[in-house]
Amino acid sequence: MIPEQITYSNSKIKSDYWELSTSGQTVSSWFLDVTHPLKFEKLSQNISVDVAIVGGGIAGITTAYLLSNSGKSVALIEDGYIGSGETGRTTAHITHALDDRYYNIEKKHGPKSARIAAESHTAAIDFIESTLMKEGIECSFSKLNGYLFLDATDNKLSLDKEIDALKNAGISTANMQYESPLKSTDISPCICFQNQAQFQPMLYLMGLANTLSTHKEAKIFTETHAQSISNKNSENVIKTDNGCNVTAQNIVLATNAPIIDRVSKIYDKQIAYRTYVIAAEVEKNSIPLALYWDTGNQKSKDHVKPYHYVRIQQTKNAKNDLLVVGGEDHKTGSIIDKKDLESKFKKLEKWMREIFSVDGRVVYSWSGQVLEPLDGLAFIGPNPGNDKSIYIATGDSGNGMTHGTIAGILLHDLILGKKNDWAELYSPNRTTK
Ligand SMILES: Cc1cc2nc3c(=O)[nH]c(=O)nc-3n(C[C@H](O)[C@H](O)[C@H](O)COP(=O)(O)OP(=O)(O)OC[C@H]3O[C@@H](n4cnc5c(N)ncnc54)[C@H](O)[C@@H]3O)c2cc1C
Repeated sequence: MIPEQITYSNSKIKSDYWELSTSGQTVSSWFLDVTHPLKFEKLSQNISVDVAIVGGGIAGITTAYLLSNSGKSVALIEDGYIGSGETGRTTAHITHALDDRYYNIEKKHGPKSARIAAESHTAAIDFIESTLMKEGIECSFSKLNGYLFLDATDNKLSLDKEIDALKNAGISTANMQYESPLKSTDISPCICFQNQAQFQPMLYLMGLANTLSTHKEAKIFTETHAQSISNKNSENVIKTDNGCNVTAQNIVLATNAPIIDRVSKIYDKQIAYRTYVIAAEVEKNSIPLALYWDTGNQKSKDHVKPYHYVRIQQTKNAKNDLLVVGGEDHKTGSIIDKKDLESKFKKLEKWMREIFSVDGRVVYSWSGQVLEPLDGLAFIGPNPGNDKSIYIATGDSGNGMTHGTIAGILLHDLILGKKNDWAELYSPNRTTK
């Protein structure tokens, strides 16, 4: 339910707020117009279904929605509420402009695979648009351009390389632009990606979850923690923290960070990063509605060069827009004190004021975790080491809206035994180069 008049508040602190049920100490700006937990019943008895899905973020909800549409009985269990994980902390750029760059994808996976990556991320954007239209989900969805511009440490060669790789990958709608899309700062030359999108991720999740909950053979359980998973003699059982069993032919672990990894060793193939976001009030429609990314700090020794990502959040009934600016990523665990933490937000604010020339108040600041695969693409498919009835979706990098949607489409096909040309590329079993 959306309150009539929206006012922004400063970041909330843990313990007083339901929004913080699992994944962090601060609250993102999406909770501005989501005023109550996306809550379903708690599991209180043993159940048996075709597919059990753990995790109520974009990957889990999309997978459950699609499998249920195809007639499978599904149970989704979430230990917080719907959107308690990274999907509630995202900035929800919906894009095929992969943050690991197509020239790297082409180098690591080959040109044919780079085309599949482009095709699958484009299909994910289309899927989100068609699904929210079909289900009548209102979630501030807009189609817009995305602009990739140079970080101060980078040079035009990297944009030239990316343009070539984009063409090879079949993305013909991306072009070099020599005119700055921003008046405040000349960010040209830049690559303009057409037909990208953004939405309010919590409203999208809420729409899909509410649709799913009307299906006869679909059940969602929140505040239900998956304590252990067993995969013995072709029987899969999830044991919950309150002692209930969920028996299923297939299990999908859509927990973002997989909760069984002893046999898969999946954490050898990806690295966890912390990333930070601020949101500042700006006059409505004062900044061209688009997604903006820089190419990242090339001096960084990290596997992923920290880059800035920017969008505008427009909320019905709010007096101003919010300029939402993210970046300052570092390996999880490498920041130790509060001063370091505050300096991350301060640096983001300084950069935002320089590039966008805005003086509005910063009214939200939060952080979240992103799993960076060593070869730039998510791991979606059977969990290595188990038989083919347990699936994972992880390693989204900064493209989790599309990777999470790809997970839904791909896992649906794999579980139904349908051929899907994306399977090999996203296989968690692949060797990362
Ligand atoms: C600050 C930030 C900005 C980002 N910006 C973008 C962006 O602009 N565009 C983009 O595409 N991606 C972005 N990402 C990445 C994207 O948000 C994530 O990759 C995506 O939301 C992950 O979705 P998910 O469904 O896999 O996981 P989650 O949303 O984390 O959902 C997993 C769920 O599993 C639940 N869970 C975990 N363990 C258990 C258990 N044992 N039992 C029951 N439930 C459990 C958790 O509570 C959680 O709700 C960003 C991420 C961050 C942190």
